[in-house]
Amino acid sequence: MTGHARTLTSKVLRLCTSRAGLPRAWARSPRLLTCAAPSCGHATNVKTRSYLQYLERKVRGPPAPPYGHVCQVGHPVLRSKAAAVHPRDILGPDVQKVIKTLTRVMRKMECVGLSAPQIGVPLRIIALEYPEKLLEDSSPASAEARGLVALPLRIFINPQLRVLNGQTVIFQEACESISGYSACVPRYLSVEVSGLNEKAEPVTWQVSGWPARILQHEVDHLEGILYIDRMDSKSFINIKWEECNG
Ligand SMILES: [Zn+2]
Repeated sequence: MTGHARTLTSKVLRLCTSRAGLPRAWARSPRLLTCAAPSCGHATNVKTRSYLQYLERKVRGPPAPPYGHVCQVGHPVLRSKAAAVHPRDILGPDVQKVIKTLTRVMRKMECVGLSAPQIGVPLRIIALEYPEKLLEDSSPASAEARGLVALPLRIFINPQLRVLNGQTVIFQEACESISGYSACVPRYLSVEVSGLNEKAEPVTWQVSGWPARILQHEVDHLEGILYIDRMDSKSFINIKWEECNG
């Protein structure tokens, strides 16, 4: 099948790259507020501040990166090419703080991959983690089709991707930086990533299926590329479009 794109689409399941299953957490999360239109609950993680928070912000000033939130599309950092990290800096406090914040925000958002630019840091650092409990959101058949597997936390610094299998597969994915939307995106079936880990040790990892998709999505962020640049534009949806009708 090499050289031929294999297309697998799902019109029923709305998946996000971030997590391959119905984005239930998005719907139930108190962090996700609805917009002003009362009959249409668009998901958004745009924050509203209480008066106390407003005052605190006025006194302290705006937060500095690494942010404890995910930057949304429109922020220039998401469209810039991230800089390589010098290996000697990896064990230093600044890079370690970025890694720690990246991991914390990824877990807070219940997503399975995040890049440093998304928390406002234009450095080539990505994190991946697919906790076992998130697999419960997908049926065994869906998990098998998508190649879902639980992954322990993995950090890659200055990651380089090599395509191992040029066959592409198409599934819906989403991005925490384009909150509330999803689209079908083709990705290579199998890739190899090499780089450094959080201890500045060289690492190489060969993966297929969903981990390969997450890696391609996150490495794209380091180049200022978003999934909307690669998507089938006719598949682009608001993940709550059905709720708007009823
Ligand atoms: Zn993303």
